Amino acid sequence: NRHWAEMLGYEEEEVYRLDLWDVTLPEERELSRRKLRMLAAREIDGYTLEKRYIRKDGSTMWARVSVSPILDENDRLETVVAMITDITERKQAEQAVHASETRYRSLFEDMPIGLFELDFSAVKTALEDLQKRYAIFDPRDYFYGNPAEVMTCLDKLRILNVNRAALTLFEANGPQAMVEHLLRSLKAEAFEDFRLILINLAENKLSTTLEAMLQTVNGNQRSVSLHITVMPQYEDNWARVLIAVQDITARLEAQLALRESEERYRRLFEDVPISLWEEDFSRARRFIQHLQTRGVTDIGAHFAANPEDLIECIAGIHVLDVNSHTLQLYHNTNKEDFLGSLGRIVPADEYDVLQDELVALANGQYEISLESNRLISGTSRYMAINLSVAPGYEATWGRVLVSLTDITRLKEAEAAEHEQRTLAEALRDTAAALVGSLDPEIVLNRILDNLGQVVPHDAANIGLVEGNQVRIHSWRGYHDLMGVEDLRLPLNYPTFQQMYHTGEPLLISDVSQDQDWIDAPGTMWVKSYVGVPVRAHGQVVGFLNLDSEHPGFFTEEHVGRLQAFADQAAIAIENAQLYDEIRKHADELQHRVEQRTLELEHERAQLQAILDAMGEGVVYTENNTIRYVNDQIVTMLGYDQMTLQGDVNEVLVQAMQFQNLDITSNWEELLRILNRRRIWRGDARVTRQDGSTFDASLTVTLVGNPGEQPISIVTIVRDVSQERALEAQKDRFIANASHELRTPIANMKMRLYLLEKQPTRQAEHMEVLHYVAGRMGTLVEELLDVSRFERGVISLDRQVVDLRTLIEHVVAIEQPIIQEKGLTLVHRLPPEALDVNIDSNRITQVLNNLLANAANYTLEGGQITVEATREEDEAVVRVSDTGIGIPAEALEQIFEPFYRVNEAVARGTGLGLTISREIVDLHGGALTVESELDKGSTFTLRLPLHRPKAE
Ligand code: ADP
Repeated sequence: NRHWAEMLGYEEEEVYRLDLWDVTLPEERELSRRKLRMLAAREIDGYTLEKRYIRKDGSTMWARVSVSPILDENDRLETVVAMITDITERKQAEQAVHASETRYRSLFEDMPIGLFELDFSAVKTALEDLQKRYAIFDPRDYFYGNPAEVMTCLDKLRILNVNRAALTLFEANGPQAMVEHLLRSLKAEAFEDFRLILINLAENKLSTTLEAMLQTVNGNQRSVSLHITVMPQYEDNWARVLIAVQDITARLEAQLALRESEERYRRLFEDVPISLWEEDFSRARRFIQHLQTRGVTDIGAHFAANPEDLIECIAGIHVLDVNSHTLQLYHNTNKEDFLGSLGRIVPADEYDVLQDELVALANGQYEISLESNRLISGTSRYMAINLSVAPGYEATWGRVLVSLTDITRLKEAEAAEHEQRTLAEALRDTAAALVGSLDPEIVLNRILDNLGQVVPHDAANIGLVEGNQVRIHSWRGYHDLMGVEDLRLPLNYPTFQQMYHTGEPLLISDVSQDQDWIDAPGTMWVKSYVGVPVRAHGQVVGFLNLDSEHPGFFTEEHVGRLQAFADQAAIAIENAQLYDEIRKHADELQHRVEQRTLELEHERAQLQAILDAMGEGVVYTENNTIRYVNDQIVTMLGYDQMTLQGDVNEVLVQAMQFQNLDITSNWEELLRILNRRRIWRGDARVTRQDGSTFDASLTVTLVGNPGEQPISIVTIVRDVSQERALEAQKDRFIANASHELRTPIANMKMRLYLLEKQPTRQAEHMEVLHYVAGRMGTLVEELLDVSRFERGVISLDRQVVDLRTLIEHVVAIEQPIIQEKGLTLVHRLPPEALDVNIDSNRITQVLNNLLANAANYTLEGGQITVEATREEDEAVVRVSDTGIGIPAEALEQIFEPFYRVNEAVARGTGLGLTISREIVDLHGGALTVESELDKGSTFTLRLPLHRPKAE
């Protein structure tokens, strides 16, 4: 019909063209076909089914189709009539319910709390019966009066469902076990809880929450919260009741712990012997915040400038609680007096401390420690204040714990300790002065400097007893006495007298009340006095006096301290006396030492002078070290003084070649010998620094005793080379002289013999004899001369003469002899006079000798020149020849006695030049020679020119 067409969204006429199967959902076609076949087969008389059609727009619709058969006369199915109802809406609702149910199931199953679904319908029926039976039914009275009825109700309970969390919670291994366990629990430990649930339900309270202790299947205790509620839509029959079970064991434990800690805190708060205040600063904080938003950055400065704001802020601090110690501290039993605004109870003199607290808080400090002096219950107490913002209240300052600890005793102890320390330091400082100085001046002044630290005063002085006076040694604070040099007070002042005789300190609190008090000069202002005697060696030797311009200023404690300083003063004075004695003794010693040093110095200088004056070198050694050498040895060796201060082996022994057989090489050897016989004499050849050598005679003497350390030795070195040379010269001289004399004597003997034998040739022999006698005479004369010169017994008979005249004279005499020898003699004299102060005979002798030599050693035809000149302040005479000359190595030797270059050629005795040089030397002149072999020689005679006195 039209309805069906409408249902499917087709026009009526369109429907007739439709195949029924086309509009049936494919998966449902089979069912319809089967039903139709069964209908055709007459197996069923009709059927109803719910099926889906496909609408023209493609959507599906649910329909309820009731099909009835229409049969023909043969009872066969002719046609069918279908009555179709649109049930889409119902179907959708059903589906939604189903979906919600499914959702509920899975929720139920997966919820992390234990869930039970129960059926209370039987219980409800029973309750309704009871209500009908009793006119007035009070479930509470009833169930408490009839516990058995509770049990009856319990038996009517049916458990429908249990979820997984419940199984876990109760340690059950399956739903069945859980159900059994729950029912058991409700009858046992949860009986009371069930009764309550029952009463609530009976009173139509369909939801109950309670906490219970339940056991698990394994018997473990669980604290749980139970929430029982009748499910919606089952309010009428209670067929579905949900019980939610949550394990709250952990929560309970936490709560318990919290409660306990709270409890502990409370107990602590209450019991600690510290004053504790719980305060709420939140209003103060808001006030400060308000100031800050107004642009105040320095809260402290703001409060200082605006005290009214500080007061307001303090009023905003609320005391929440104080502990019992606070009440004790303030001697107040009424806690109420402390609670409320702090501004009400805090006295104004504590505002500054509160200001500090507020500023610190404003700066973000949540732990603040301060100290403050407070007047508590009428006494001044030193309190340590500790303020701490409770954790979690940092933003609001809503809970601040303030503790007040009485540290008065501590402070007093500290102060006492400080005082003790100051005293000790002051004493130690004076002690240091005592140790550091024996001068009482320093110590007594130090005492006065330090006294002020431990005994306050206006003026102080130290007086020393001298006879019957007290000399004020040093003082401080007496301004009227400025510039006074020597202040003395009589010892018979009553104050001094008393201390002097008793040896005890004296304290006068008010000098105006003391009839014994005498005003000393410059002390009219003094009102109180304390003095202590200074005792040394059991006697009062002085006083330490303090004055104050305030009466009653000094205390017994001051006296004690003063005494300590007086004792130090005593030590200083004792020390000073000791020091004086020691100094006197030391002075004496010093004097003696100086005297002795002077003597020693003198002796040493004498010794030094003697040693230095000695011709011998002296070396003093200790062990192997040279300690002293005299000037002489320095000159002798050519080493400097420094080099000679060292190891004896390195310098001295190296330089010496010992010549005695028993000293082979070294000093050690010498030391051994000395240890045996103390003195050793011997010769050595000593090498100087420049490598030249000289012969030395050594005398080495051990000073001190053998075996003594150090081994001190004096070595005397004498240069004997000259001695030796002279000796050798003498020996040679004697040998030469004997030889020279022997020849003419032999000659004479010969001639005398011949004279005897040949009297006829007398004249000839006599001539030779004369000649030989003459030569001998000359020789002897010359020998005598040499000997005289050596002994220094020749004296000159000086006269000023012009040397030119002398030369003219000598030349005039020698000229003929020289010419006779076939030689020429020339002389050249200067035009000016050559005045010399000489012994003319002796210089003539020299010139004769030089001319004779020139003649003797020049071959025939040669020339001899005598030339005189003036050279600076000398008259110089040169005698030159063109003779045979003198070899270079003989140039100096020709001046030695008896030396002749060539015995064969020589004509003379070899003494002439020796004598000539002696003569010239005696005149302060010089005789030298220059010569070249085969060319000639030049002898130069220099004599100092005479300077008349007038010049
Ligand atoms: P003598 O009496 O032998 O001349 P002297 O003392 O006068 O003694 O001279 C010493 C020596 O010096 C001589 O023996 C001679 O060998 C040498 N002598 C001195 N004068 C000359 C001279 N003018 N020329 C060369 N030899 C000389």
